[in-house]
Amino acid sequence: MQLALLCAVCLLPSHLALPLPQEEGGMNKQQWEQAQDYLKRFYLHDSKAKGANSLEAKLKQMQRFFGLPVTGKLNSHIIEVMQKPRCGVPDVAEFSLFPNRPKWTSKVVTYRIVSYTSDLPRVTVDQIVEKALSMWREQIPLDFKRVRSGTADIMIGFARGAHGDFYPFDGPGNTLAHAFSPGPGLGGDAHFDKDEHWTDGGSLGINFLFAATHELGHSLGLGHSSDPDAVMFPTYGTAESQDIKLAQDDINGIQKLYGKRSDSRKS
Ligand SMILES: [Zn+2]
Ligand SMILES: [Zn+2]
Repeated sequence: MQLALLCAVCLLPSHLALPLPQEEGGMNKQQWEQAQDYLKRFYLHDSKAKGANSLEAKLKQMQRFFGLPVTGKLNSHIIEVMQKPRCGVPDVAEFSLFPNRPKWTSKVVTYRIVSYTSDLPRVTVDQIVEKALSMWREQIPLDFKRVRSGTADIMIGFARGAHGDFYPFDGPGNTLAHAFSPGPGLGGDAHFDKDEHWTDGGSLGINFLFAATHELGHSLGLGHSSDPDAVMFPTYGTAESQDIKLAQDDINGIQKLYGKRSDSRKS
């Protein structure tokens, strides 16, 4: 349940009074507030660095993560990056795994789809989840079994606003989904914001295959990657394709956790 643990930190009152320096004028109050919220939400306290909890340090962390010049100063390009639709899991810079490397220890992991979006037929949602899981499964010695009742390791669902964990969704745009690292209870669960417009890749909206592959990567134990080509990059591309592939970086990450699939049952 790493997300929960990490986010408990952002809810604590913190000494974030230092103003954010900016490179250019013309930033309005709303953009400032958005930038501050973004940094508090997605860049968490780094105990290794002194003063790392200041907004400027978090901004530098963010710039490093996205491969931008590390200035510690706000500019309009950074605001643009912050406004891209993204996953709700924080960016732990330069780690591809969650701290403590939680992973599933059984060979068969169960999943259950508990709620749906009205944007897609249920059967399409089922197929996309299956496809996303099979992309990961092809790389590692783990199998997935769907269950239709009771508690599964990975509970998958669509929800809007506050939905029973500490991470309410925010309406259309911005945060689209989040998932918890492997563990009991909420661990492994993947939640998708019902207020987004979900698609199967054929029309404008949020590509559910891409989002599911990304979030289920978290459910298996991967954190965010700073490789912009990786499925585990924190912002969602505008992919309209139905043909999404794991990048080598995603494969390296998941195999670091579970090892390689050795048998030939690849599909
Ligand atoms: Zn994510
Ligand atoms: Zn949730």
